[in-house]
Amino acid sequence: MAEDLFNNSIEGLKKLLRTNTSLYEELAKEQHPKTRYAGVGAAIEYAVHHLKVENILVMGHSCCGGIKGLMSIPDDGTTSSDFIEDWVKICSTAKTKVKAEFKDLEFAEQCTKCEMEAVNVSLGNLLTYPFVEDAVMNKTLSLKGGYYNFVKATFEIWCLDHGVSPTLVVTPQ
Ligand SMILES: [Zn+2]
Repeated sequence: MAEDLFNNSIEGLKKLLRTNTSLYEELAKEQHPKTRYAGVGAAIEYAVHHLKVENILVMGHSCCGGIKGLMSIPDDGTTSSDFIEDWVKICSTAKTKVKAEFKDLEFAEQCTKCEMEAVNVSLGNLLTYPFVEDAVMNKTLSLKGGYYNFVKATFEIWCLDHGVSPTLVVTPQ
């Protein structure tokens, strides 16, 4: 029953797209980052405007499969997944920076550098939201980067204004 409903609605949608090709154009127009990440933007806007959060912590972590995937995308940019690689590519600038600055490191070590650098890219992206920029300028909001290494059981945290240098390192006793 549920399967029939599903198949019928898929068939209906296919028919609609076949008979009204201009719908594709409408769909294509909406496929740009602003719309695609609208849910993230809405969540952050709500947190900043209505919940009045004082800190946003962007946290990276060790052994990150997403970063490993990003670092593994060939230089010509060819991808084999439908969504995953396009999503991790949001941190391509971190990859480029790490590949340039740490080209002599082993791949695994480059990934670790990228796991941290990607946090900085995300912090930079956060600042492109006007309500985040305003709150940071008004000092009602602080952006922080964090890195959790669950192999060594360490946690580093840094403030945006201090760049990549960690301001606090928590290590096990
Ligand atoms: Zn991860």
